[in-house]
This record gives sequence, C-alpha cells and structure tokens, in this order.
Amino acid sequence: MVGFNTLVQSGTTENQLFGNQPQKVVYGSGADANYKALLLKWAKRKMITQKVALALIDATRKKGATDRIPSYWNSYYCLSNMTVANGRMYGSYCKTRCCTICLAIRKAEMINKYLPVLKQWSDPHFVTLTVKAPKHHRLKFIADGMHRAFRQIREKHKKREQRGTGKKLIGLRSLECNFNPKTHTYNPHFHIITQDRYTATTLQNEWLNKWTMKFTHPVAQHMTRIDNREKVLIEIVKYGSKIFTEPDVKNKRNSKVPPTIYADALDNILNEFSGRRLLQSFGFHLPKVQAKPKPTQTLITNFQDMAFDAYTHDWINTESGKAFTGYRPPPMLNYLLQNGIDLEKS
Ligand SMILES: [Zn+2]
Repeated sequence: MVGFNTLVQSGTTENQLFGNQPQKVVYGSGADANYKALLLKWAKRKMITQKVALALIDATRKKGATDRIPSYWNSYYCLSNMTVANGRMYGSYCKTRCCTICLAIRKAEMINKYLPVLKQWSDPHFVTLTVKAPKHHRLKFIADGMHRAFRQIREKHKKREQRGTGKKLIGLRSLECNFNPKTHTYNPHFHIITQDRYTATTLQNEWLNKWTMKFTHPVAQHMTRIDNREKVLIEIVKYGSKIFTEPDVKNKRNSKVPPTIYADALDNILNEFSGRRLLQSFGFHLPKVQAKPKPTQTLITNFQDMAFDAYTHDWINTESGKAFTGYRPPPMLNYLLQNGIDLEKS
C-alpha cells in the first residue's frame, strides 16, 4: 500500500477520489506560472547559469578539482524540470552560489530581511575595506587575515562598550571579490553599511592601522554617506564576484572590453568563499521572526510537466512540445555566452 507520505513521485494509482489519473506530490507554494516577466527572467538566468556551470566544470576538470563538479551540475539542473498546476509552477532549487536564479531569490529575501532594520538607522554610511590584491596562491591567507582583522576590531569596541568607555560598531557587511585579468590578481573586499558615521570612521581608521601601508592604502578605503538605503543594500547583497555579473548588454556599447566570464578565476573565488558568510550583520540581531511554517505538500492530479531545453533556452511541455515562456535571448547575450567565457588558467 502506498501511503501519502511515501508518494513523492508521480505515478498512476487507483484512487477513489481521482480515479485512474496521474498524480504527483509537489512541495512548497510554488511560483506564479502566469507571471510572464518572471518566466522570461528565469529563462534568461537559466541560460546564463547553464553556460557558466559548464565552463566551471571544464575549469575544475582541468585543475583536477573534481570535488566541485557535483555542485556545478546541481546549478546546471536547477529548475530544469518544473510542474505546472493550478497556475503555480513547482520545481527544486539548487541554492548554489553560482546559480543566477537562486542568487536572485536569495537577494530578494535578504533585502526583505534587512531593509526594515536599515530604515531605522540614524545616519547610515557606506564603507569599503580593501587590501592589496593578492595572486591566487595567497587569496586564502589574505581572506583569512581580513576576517580576523575585522573580528578583532569589532571585539575591541564591543569590550569598550561593556566597560562603558566606548561604543560598539553596528552594521551589515558583505564579502566580495573581483578578478583582475590584466594583473591576474584577486581583490577580496568588504562592503559595509554602518548604522552611523562613528562606526564608519572607526572601522576605516582601525582597518588602516591593522593592515598598515604595506598591505593596504588609505585611498582604496571608500566612505560615503548613504542617501538611498535600498539602493545600497541591493548593491551589497549582490553576492560573489563582479566577474559573475550578468553580461550587461546595455552597457556593452560604452565599454571597450567585452564582458568576460573568467571561469578558472570564478571557480577559485567560489571555492575560496565556500563556507564563508557572504552577508553578515554585526552589533545587532534581526528581530525574531516566528518559526518558518513547515513546507507544504500538495497532491495534484491535473498538471503539466516542463523540461528545460538547453538549445532553445526554454522549458518545453513534455506532452505538447510547446515552449513555456517564449523567451528569445537577445543576439548580444547569445554572442557573449558563446564568446565571452574564458577558460584559460587564471
Ligand atoms: Zn538554483
């Protein structure tokens, strides 16, 4: 006998309620299957992620780092199969850091979480803390040092507050890393939104004291007052590295260098950052939210299965063969994904 809880795959079962119909259990509340703009975005992101995932797999194979391959395949297959029922679409998300669909979802979640807190802050400032860009073999050493330095600064001021001789530092920090293809160096840096000017100037001064001129430079540490909190928050939750930004077709005309995805460097950065928090609050906690409701399960009988086709960049209805979103990649994006991926060793 097949119990409800074990019926997780589709199948045809005699059932008193539904008769001899195919049925399936889907999880969660799904996404709006009639939201055309979202469908087109997902198709575009899926296309980009698949191309990048294949490039990352090639890059890791070349250097024998095969342990990373399964995670890249997960991103390749994220939402490859979807089920559409009652106007909702269901599928499983890979939640990896190289999936542009999952990154976008995570970004929206983070903005919802942190924006209400930021709106309460008295005089938020934006600070960038950098160090001199290392080559790949020193990236881990430098990234460890940055985290250690930041922690020491934070703890020093927390203790001062406990003793009644100072103020603790309050803010939200994101970790980013760019790759410079000219110098073959990596530029790990912190982007920070601080609650007030005090935290911003203290962080900046302490950072320069810690790293000294040998490892950093005052000019490279930026600080500005924030006018548009939402805009800056969106900037800092753009996870990962600049080289992973979607090729910007609009700005391409203004740039002499076409956007390129450096797969080997990207793999180095993803590998170095795995296990590190990309977004971290300090000096405050988010207000407690009620426990997340348990994921729901729904038994559906009237559904359509969609499978993503890597050649047409669209989900295809497995029964009717009809394209689901009608997405047509702009020629420039097609060109960039064909020609803008560099597989050379960085
Ligand atoms: Zn994903």
